[in-house]
Amino acid sequence: MSRLERIFVAGHRGMVGSAIARKLHERGDTAVIARTRSELDLADQAQVRDFFANEKIDRVYLAAAHVGGILANNTYPAEFIYQNIMIQTNIIHEAWRGGVEKLLFLGSSCIYPRLAPQPLTEDSLLTGVLEQTNEPYAIAKIAGIKLCESYNRQYGTDYRSVMPTNLYGIGDNYDAERSHVIPGLLRRFHEAKQNAAPEVVIWGTGKPMREFLYVDDMAEACLHVMDLSADTYQRNTQPMLSHINVGTGEDLTIRELATIIAEVIGYRGQIAFDSTKPDGAPRKVMDVSRLRNLGWRARTGLREGLALAYADFLASTRR
Ligand code: GDP
Repeated sequence: MSRLERIFVAGHRGMVGSAIARKLHERGDTAVIARTRSELDLADQAQVRDFFANEKIDRVYLAAAHVGGILANNTYPAEFIYQNIMIQTNIIHEAWRGGVEKLLFLGSSCIYPRLAPQPLTEDSLLTGVLEQTNEPYAIAKIAGIKLCESYNRQYGTDYRSVMPTNLYGIGDNYDAERSHVIPGLLRRFHEAKQNAAPEVVIWGTGKPMREFLYVDDMAEACLHVMDLSADTYQRNTQPMLSHINVGTGEDLTIRELATIIAEVIGYRGQIAFDSTKPDGAPRKVMDVSRLRNLGWRARTGLREGLALAYADFLASTRR
């Protein structure tokens, strides 16, 4: 019997990593390797080197990252640039040293310039100035893409990068301050409903536009992109462009999002806006034609996904 492929999911306790690990377990045709932070500190080069030297890993999903919402990025920039550069550099370099041929690096739509033409196409990378609130995080993610490209060019590896739009869903971080907008608002509207509060305050003006993708769809997209043959992937990828957008291609305003969340939760009070808080980029919607041409599209609608996310939030309050 041939040996099962050994797949390392880095970040398997995070929202995306855990969804990827669930999908791989469902398939059941590979050995999923995972380590908690106390078992393997991904920011420690020596530990990562030993891990790859000993574990004979075939493929890597690099879903480990230091992540957070607009306020966390704006408040703790050093953490965001340092942690992410360390984690991805250690994994990509030591994976290559350890003979890993295929790796999928997870980036973010914030790698694109703040005022890039919308929808965002892959080739707008490095054509303009980044959004300030999350520039350190974006710079780290751009470095990750360029690490993958450079190792492919110099060492002949097949390291690909996926750039997800804003993600939400099972396993999200529901912290009031550090979270992204969907988990943050799920908590605030839920608490307002419980306390019969007359209004919920939303950060910023409510005018920015965002696109949202349910995390299980993201995990499926990751497996899809990883499994494409090198020929297929290259055919639809411009030379030297190793990254590909993942999203729904549809966006809405933060005000519209807040209204839908209020409906999903059953909150009937007012929505107010705190314009002393930052808006971030005015709009971020992905051009997803490249991924569609490669045979994948998102399945979960926003209302359906928000209902699933709210159920997960409720479960998290009981955990
Ligand atoms: P971004 O896409 O990097 O800006 O990440 P976020 O998900 O943190 O924020 C998206 C937008 O939602 C920004 O315009 C925020 O100002 C706005 N927003 C409104 N209320 C909240 C909230 O409670 N938490 C967060 N994180 N953002 C909020």
